Amino acid sequence: ILEISGLHKSYGDNQVLRGVDLKVNAGELVCVIGPSGSGKSTMLRCCNLLETPTGGTILANGHQVTAPTVDINRLRQDVGMVFQQFNLYPHLTALDNVALALRTVQRRSKAESHMLAQSALEQVGLGAKAGAYPSELSGGQQQRVGIARAVALKPKVILFDEPTSALDPELVEDVLNVMRDLRARGMTMLVVTHEMAFAHAAADRVVFMDGGVVVEQGTAAEMFEHPREARTQSFLARYG
Ligand code: ATP
Ligand code: MG
Repeated sequence: ILEISGLHKSYGDNQVLRGVDLKVNAGELVCVIGPSGSGKSTMLRCCNLLETPTGGTILANGHQVTAPTVDINRLRQDVGMVFQQFNLYPHLTALDNVALALRTVQRRSKAESHMLAQSALEQVGLGAKAGAYPSELSGGQQQRVGIARAVALKPKVILFDEPTSALDPELVEDVLNVMRDLRARGMTMLVVTHEMAFAHAAADRVVFMDGGVVVEQGTAAEMFEHPREARTQSFLARYG
């Protein structure tokens, strides 16, 4: 579904990604871990062209993301994204936040967009909050709206960039449960996270990034119980 090969990204002299190789197969939940500044967000943002790669290739659902002819609308429907800071429109209700892209990107009618948005909100347990504005929702509820917004477009893969890092600790589990539920329904997900317990228990594969490259990857059990690389070992040691 997603195949990243030799991905490079520089900002001026700052080489943030130095040849990232990473594959996500259909139905997999892959977690990316690694220190701050290692390029995790940049890597995700390259996958739906929120950043333009400076080298390498990305294949998303069979389409070359880096091709000059790429259809960005198509790409962003295939590759959904959930952000750390939710990025909801404050002046729109939960329902309208979810319905917006259905109307503008997929050009669906208002009635159909609202129906699909309502059903996406129900999937994340927020069917009763459709009329609420973001300011009337908890952080965890806002993030579930963010997930519903991604899910509503029926993407092939959803990228999550530290979806629980901005949340109070007691709200984290609600969001992780929604993600576990999505995984159980077969959604393909690439998740940057610092939730090591979640990565250990829920991920099919775990990828450790440092210094703009993938240092090591393996099953969750391999990575957490028998990391091979010294850098992975010392990173994980800090999380006990
Ligand atoms: P964190 O765990 O803190 O979120 P990260 O692994 O997601 O870190 P990135 O956000 O990808 O790291 O950033 C990697 C590097 O790229 C950093 O050194 C950062 O300063 C640089 N960088 C990111 N975005 C930009 C930008 N728009 N312009 C210039 N430099 C950037
Ligand atoms: Mg980041």
